[in-house]
Formats: sequence, structure tokens, C-alpha cells
Amino acid sequence: MDFSAKKVLVTGASRGIGRAIAVQFAQSGAQVAVHYGSNKQAADETIAMLEGDGHIIVQAELANADDVKRMVDEAIEGLGGLDILVNNAGVYEEHPALETDYETWQAQWEKIININLFGAANAIYCAANYMKDNGGGRIVNISSRGAFRGEPTAPAYGASKAGMNSMGQSLAKALAPHGIFIGTVAPGFVQTDMARELLQGESGAAIRAQSPLNRVATPDDVAFATLFLAADGSEFMTGTIVDVNGASYLRS
Ligand code: NAP
Repeated sequence: MDFSAKKVLVTGASRGIGRAIAVQFAQSGAQVAVHYGSNKQAADETIAMLEGDGHIIVQAELANADDVKRMVDEAIEGLGGLDILVNNAGVYEEHPALETDYETWQAQWEKIININLFGAANAIYCAANYMKDNGGGRIVNISSRGAFRGEPTAPAYGASKAGMNSMGQSLAKALAPHGIFIGTVAPGFVQTDMARELLQGESGAAIRAQSPLNRVATPDDVAFATLFLAADGSEFMTGTIVDVNGASYLRS
């Protein structure tokens, strides 16, 4: 896949899946805006790993709509345009319904939906309004298998990802006439900080055994699907949701 001269903004590229996406885009010729939330040092490490020139770092708290707009504006200015937006950043936090007090329950829902869903929606709004007047573009959202399989102890997380899936489908229809195409990637467990505790703990072996490959995804597995959905030639897949879960959860 060739992304020469393409300008890409990847949210949450300071660590994990976002870092792998940034690295693969740069390897394929793109110029990347590496977004981070609070971990500047990790963003510096990501940018040091990128092949080629012209990459930049942008910071934003994604729960803050003004921050999101500034992030997209800075990416457009710093890269000299924007062809591809990857909404990758996200948080996973547990809040079991019968073991969480009401105040915490509300705070968790507000926080997780604000970051995972509103943050992505606002970034799409800002990027799409630029892209429609500048040759179109691609948007890839990183969702989760949890949207389909359920997240019993993290229902706001599951709902945020189900919302992201639906948002991608709706906006694929709305934006295709403007040359803007949207794909969604739904990974199962991935080897990153987000899943580290579960994968290293007692549950690790059982989680790996959910897949007949007896492993979880690597960040590179998810990055490959992301680049595929952003590549020339996959336009007609707009609105799709691609599973990257090693056949651990099958749907038809
Ligand atoms: P991660 O290692 O925990 O990294 C999360 C990234 O999101 C970091 O770059 C972080 O930035 C950024 N971020 C988090 N909250 C933010 C906020 N409020 N504002 C701005 N940036 C924020 O996560 P990951 O495992 O790579 O996950 C990436 C995506 O894949 C997420 O959307 C996640 O839901 C999805 N996913 C992950 C798994 C999994 O098992 N790991 C499975 C399915 C789906 P800073 O570090 O700079 O704060």
C-alpha cells in the first residue's frame, strides 16, 4: 500500500495501536501527525520511530471539543493538508452496574462517551468539513469487538464502540458524495497497555485461547487493517466494519 504524499492524523498515537498505525503509515510514505493526550514523552518516542520527514506532534484532550478542533487545525496547518483521519484514541474503564455507586456510574459514562464517541465525532466533523473542499479523504475509526460481544463490566465502553460503529455507517452514507470514505476496525484483545493487566494476569491464557490461533492481536495486526481501509482501491468498502479478532468472535 502506497501512501506517498498522503497526510494522516492518528489520534492516540503516543502508544499502543496508534503508534503502530503511525509507524506503518510513515513506512508507506505518509506524513503523520502524531496525537497524544498527556504522554508527551511517548509521543516523542513515536515520532522518533517514523520513517521519512515532515511528521508533527499534536496534543489534545479529546473530551474537550475546542481541543479537538485545535488538534485538527494544527494537523492541517502542520502537515499542509489532511487526507486521512484515524480515530484511534480511547479509554477502557470498568464500572460494574451492581458494584458501582450512582455518582461514579454517571461520571464513568460521561467520561468514556465523551472521549471515545464525542471525541471521534468532533474530529470527524472538523476533518470532513476540511476534506469536502480539499479533494475528499478517508476516515478510519478504531472500535472494538466489545460492541458486538458485550462488555459486562464496562458497559459505557461497549456502548461507546457500538455508537462509533453506527456513526461510521451513518456518516459513510452522508459523506461518500463528497469523496469522503469511512471504515471501522473492530479488534478483539490487543497486546497494549490497555489490556496488559488482563493478559498478564490469571485470565491471560483463557483470553488467548478464545482464538484458534491461541494469541491476541498485535498492534501491527490492527494497523494493517487500518491502512487497508484508508488505501486507494477500498473506497467501495465505505461503511464497513472489519473484525480483527483471530476468529475469537464470529458474526454474520
Ligand atoms: P492504549 O495503549 O491505552 O493507548 C491509548 C491512547 O489513547 C494513548 O495514546 C492515549 O494518549 C490516548 N488517549 C486516551 N485518553 C485520551 C484522552 N482523554 N484524550 C486524548 N488522548 C487520549 O490503548 P490501545 O490499546 O492502543 O487502544 C487504541 C484503541 O483501540 C482504543 O480506541 C481502544 O478502545 C481500541 N481497542 C483496544 C483493544 C485492546 O485490547 N487493547 C481492543 C479493542 C479495541 P496519552 O497516552 O498521550 O494520554
